[in-house]
Amino acid sequence: MNFVYQRTYRGPLKAVILDWAGTTMDYGCFAPAVVFIEVYKKFGVPITMEEARGPMGAHKKVHIREISKTPAVAKRWEEAHGKPPCEDDVDAMFKDFVPMQLKVLADYADLIPGTLDALKEYRKRGMKIGSTTGYTGEMMEILQAEAKNRGYVPDASVCATQVPAGRPHPWMCIQNAMDLQVYPMEAIVKIGDTLPDIDEGLNAGMWTIGLALTGNEMGMTEAEIKALNAETLASKRKRAYDRMARQGAHYVVDAIADAIPLIDEINARLARGERP
Ligand SMILES: [Mg+2]
Repeated sequence: MNFVYQRTYRGPLKAVILDWAGTTMDYGCFAPAVVFIEVYKKFGVPITMEEARGPMGAHKKVHIREISKTPAVAKRWEEAHGKPPCEDDVDAMFKDFVPMQLKVLADYADLIPGTLDALKEYRKRGMKIGSTTGYTGEMMEILQAEAKNRGYVPDASVCATQVPAGRPHPWMCIQNAMDLQVYPMEAIVKIGDTLPDIDEGLNAGMWTIGLALTGNEMGMTEAEIKALNAETLASKRKRAYDRMARQGAHYVVDAIADAIPLIDEINARLARGERP
């Protein structure tokens, strides 16, 4: 046969899948970071904020393991304990991490400014709202209750423990698509604040938007960002944009509210027959 015929989805976006900390709540993604620092301190190996934030976006136990593999942390661990960190150490730290994290979650549950406006715009376009996270189910119970009190109720929420593996794998997104009963995957857009968020969206075959100013890349509160001088802000912001663009994000914007016009832009691209 000399010709083949290819089916192309030309309809609009049907759903958005949002990350939690750093994307819709907890502006600087502090809740997990401060507890990782606390738990490593408890185990006699102080870590820096940068080391604590490195693997952000992963399931929290995977995150603890990844920190322990950081060469500088592994070295300090060996100095403190006489042997390199092993899986038993990761288990012990995660066991302590869980109640410590549960205790502080509500303190960092305020919605990021613009979140409710963005949700309203997505709904106006007929989109369903799903969510994925590196938090566990019991952590999400607390956060979802806090979010509901603040007016945010997604249509679906999936955490890493409900699927074979968390980010960077696509399963949480695919489970969201099933729960929301939405397809094809190119009719869905993922928004998140970490590099594993971007991997997750791309691996699921979805449009993917990175957030550079809110969340883990800047790792600062809104007030701290406002207090930066123009030069420092520009260089930090550029670093975050570059890192997310290099990870393959279709778009990078400052915060969730800035993604609203991108929905219309992606819809136009879909109508032209483009795919993520
Ligand atoms: Mg996040």
